[in-house]
Amino acid sequence: MDRTITCEVRGPGIAFFTFDRPGSAANIFDQATFEQLNSLLDQVENDSSVRGLVIVSAKPKVFIAGADLTGFSKDPSPDDLAKTIDLGQRTFDRIANLKFPSVAAIHGVALGGGLEIALACDYRIASLDSATKVGLPETTLGIIPAWGGCTRLPRLVGLPAALEVILSGKQIPTRQAQKLGLVDDSTYRERLEGLATKKIVDSQGRKRVIRTHFSHISPLATIIADRAKKKTIEKTRGHYPAPLKALEVVVNGLKSSTAVSFENEKKALIELTKGEVAQNLIRVFFLQERAKKLTVSNLKPEVKPKRVLVVGAGLMGSGIAQWLSARGLNVVLKDIGPEPLGKGLQSIDRVYRDAVKRRILTEVDARAGLDRILPIYEDVPLTNVDLAIEAAVEKLDLKKQIFSQLEPKIPNTLLIASNTSGLSIDDISEGLAHPEKVVGVHFFNPVHRMQLVEVVRGSQTSETVLAMAIQFVKSIGKLPVLVKDSPGFLVNRILLPYLVEAIRIFSEGHSVEAIDRAILGFGMPMGPLRLNDEVGLDVSQHVGSDLAARVSHLPPLNNVLPRMIQKGWLGRKSGAGFYIYRDQSETPNPELKEFQPSIEPTNADQVTDRLIFIMINEAARVLEENVVTDPADVDFGMIMGTGWAPFRGGPLKYADSVGISTVVSRLNHLAGKFGEHFKPCALLNEMVNRGVTFFDAKR
Ligand code: NAD
Repeated sequence: MDRTITCEVRGPGIAFFTFDRPGSAANIFDQATFEQLNSLLDQVENDSSVRGLVIVSAKPKVFIAGADLTGFSKDPSPDDLAKTIDLGQRTFDRIANLKFPSVAAIHGVALGGGLEIALACDYRIASLDSATKVGLPETTLGIIPAWGGCTRLPRLVGLPAALEVILSGKQIPTRQAQKLGLVDDSTYRERLEGLATKKIVDSQGRKRVIRTHFSHISPLATIIADRAKKKTIEKTRGHYPAPLKALEVVVNGLKSSTAVSFENEKKALIELTKGEVAQNLIRVFFLQERAKKLTVSNLKPEVKPKRVLVVGAGLMGSGIAQWLSARGLNVVLKDIGPEPLGKGLQSIDRVYRDAVKRRILTEVDARAGLDRILPIYEDVPLTNVDLAIEAAVEKLDLKKQIFSQLEPKIPNTLLIASNTSGLSIDDISEGLAHPEKVVGVHFFNPVHRMQLVEVVRGSQTSETVLAMAIQFVKSIGKLPVLVKDSPGFLVNRILLPYLVEAIRIFSEGHSVEAIDRAILGFGMPMGPLRLNDEVGLDVSQHVGSDLAARVSHLPPLNNVLPRMIQKGWLGRKSGAGFYIYRDQSETPNPELKEFQPSIEPTNADQVTDRLIFIMINEAARVLEENVVTDPADVDFGMIMGTGWAPFRGGPLKYADSVGISTVVSRLNHLAGKFGEHFKPCALLNEMVNRGVTFFDAKR
């Protein structure tokens, strides 16, 4: 194995351990890295000239990204897990117990084990670079920090801050980390090693002494823990065991020795890793890693556009312009007049201000980002544009007109993308001189939060253009999924029948709260009626009827939405829809009764089944029609594009866990009671006949 860590003893006897995994952009902890780290520790322990240790990374964006998770997925053996945990705990404990002081000089992300090694050091300093973030994301993977994180963090920063870091799993930028006490000092990247040396010299060989934090003394600790427990149960709705387990280990650790607390960490991690929730969440992590490696025909073209044209400054265009400008790209933002442009710029400004408030960006970075956007509404020369994204209103004729007028004006563009939610890329590119340059690049709303982008291959899209679109999406920090040019593509195609069915259920007399509560209970981040309001009832109606015209088996639309729209209820944006939106809160719209029968519905127990199984059926159809070719893409798209209960693994993984024959018999039952649109698709029937599942190799 190549060296992943090198050691150099500099100046006044300070050993620098530099993490630099060969052939990779990241450093991680695997068996070999631990072996090397232990042998370097042997070396410095036995070298009497060494007076201090500094841990650094040579990578531009990563300090240490955490553990190699491969060993945690696919039925890990408890013995192997125990060995891995022991190894990490023991190695980091050696650093904590060195006779001389140690400093972690963090530049880039320090996550999980990457932060735990830093916690074992006496001091942590970090660069003031936007790439630098620290955090313990384990609970978001269904596990807990078990290389000392649950034990050392509360001792260092106190119980409230430790719980905030561990239970949220958030990645925290330097200044915020410093405020929390996670990081002692910060400086520019170039000065980081100098500051680390100074810390060691200033400490005059003394180890740091950490005093018991006042928040650890009961009854304060009990009050803090109870409050955190209540909040966690509310937030996780009982679906995610890891945060509660972490809380238990952290709180027990306050009154135990580190050795006992390490044992608690280990036991809890082994127990959690065996569970389905952790396995599904770790799988989601690997699906994201897989998306980062997506290519077509092994093409990896260099795509470094300097100037991107975004057409349309509405909800999506402004979101895309903000995202690109924040990533250093110059954006020409075009709309039809000063008014829509002004509105777009206001919403861009809001996103930037929010990012500053949350300390994701500095004032200076936000200002520089805004300055990179050039708003235009007049015809100006666009020959220097090297990539274009259209995000105008969802009307085929309009999009065709925009593309045909734009094409001759941007001869140097690598590609022209449409952000259409479901119109045909082939229809949009029809009649153009270069249809091979047209591709779908479908961002999700809100752009700054949603990582997924559907890249749509039109029948004329060239392989190079497709590869460039994928590279571009990855280069701006989004995760691509490649889909066929088909109605609604992947995510909207599966989501729409569900949104329509929810409205049908409502029109049978079920209350708005009951429908949304049922789905929240299943584990979605939002109920379907609330989601209709968020999308906009006019948009939902438009997309629904458009899709219904192109896909024959969808649930029949009823007249609830048109009647609501007539009343001016367009969902959240108009202040009223299925809910009334006032003062940052929403309550069910009390005037909805007129759309419902007066008799109570009798089939409340089937609400969840109807909504979930209609999605599973559609998800299977998407595979059947080769919208995507791998069932993992379906799960990945639904989790990343809609927040589909990640702990259940996505609609197809969930179908496997229910059992395909059960899925089919439940769908047949629903079809008998609620309509033909529940009839299981041919693929599901065929899978039952062949006795296969989505994720066994035999499909
Ligand atoms: P929007 O109505 O908020 O914005 C559309 C903008 O396009 C408006 O500002 C309008 O003035 C402008 N426009 C109209 N004609 C134009 C022209 N000829 N040249 C330049 N600009 C023009 O719409 P939106 O929600 O931002 O949707 C834009 C596109 O993104 C649509 O294709 C939509 O399907 C897709 N999309 C929407 C969402 C969503 O949640 N709203 C999500 C993903 C994709």
